Amino acid sequence: MSEESEGRGQVPDCARCPAPVCYSPAFMKGPPNCPTRTKADVIEKAVAQYRDPEVAEFARVASIVEGTAYARVPWAPGTPSPATTRLEEIIGFAKRMGYRKLGVAYCVGFREEAEILVPLLERRGFEVVSVCCKAGGIPKEEIGVKDEEKIIPGTYESMCNPISQAEIFNEEGCDFNIAMGLCVGHDSLFLKHANAPTTVFAVKDRLLGHNPLAALYQSRQYYRRLRTAGGIPGKAEQ
Ligand code: SF4
Repeated sequence: MSEESEGRGQVPDCARCPAPVCYSPAFMKGPPNCPTRTKADVIEKAVAQYRDPEVAEFARVASIVEGTAYARVPWAPGTPSPATTRLEEIIGFAKRMGYRKLGVAYCVGFREEAEILVPLLERRGFEVVSVCCKAGGIPKEEIGVKDEEKIIPGTYESMCNPISQAEIFNEEGCDFNIAMGLCVGHDSLFLKHANAPTTVFAVKDRLLGHNPLAALYQSRQYYRRLRTAGGIPGKAEQ
């Protein structure tokens, strides 16, 4: 157990695991707070859920798609190398699952990407329903946003409407949904209200070109502020 983990008792802290063994046959040899050891009852109940035939098939296909994501390249035959883009994996997964109708829930800021994505999916034989986050044109005042809390105060702004995106896909009978660029929290609402399973194709990061991990990669350099206990820049809490 790492120094930081000490004193936290049995609380799982995989992120600070000194030697991850859970992907090896020595999976029971993790640290004292390893969930493989301390949460065996929870894991047993969770694993039982894979016995549901629908869940089992979903998990099986997801793992098969994971397996197809690697190939042996001539210059490094001893190591599996990545071979597929996430988009190819989404298409492959949906095909293998036999899905016919896909819902694409996108942010208005990803309109150009949606224009490319939807025909691309249709060319693969899917029927696609796409819904923009601003569908409904509901003013932000509807959910209690004050004028000074808008992006541009003094103007009309439609709220992001992820529950409507989800409900439209539910009504259309989409087999599988693809989320693209929904805001933090709006994505949570979409995931909560969508009946069909959803995969996330892209997440929004306005500052980092939709590559949020760049904040971590630069957290010892240009984004050192993220490692301090200080506040997050932006408007002060009301
Ligand atoms: S499951 Fe156990 S072995 Fe794996 S990372 Fe977590 S603590 Fe380490």
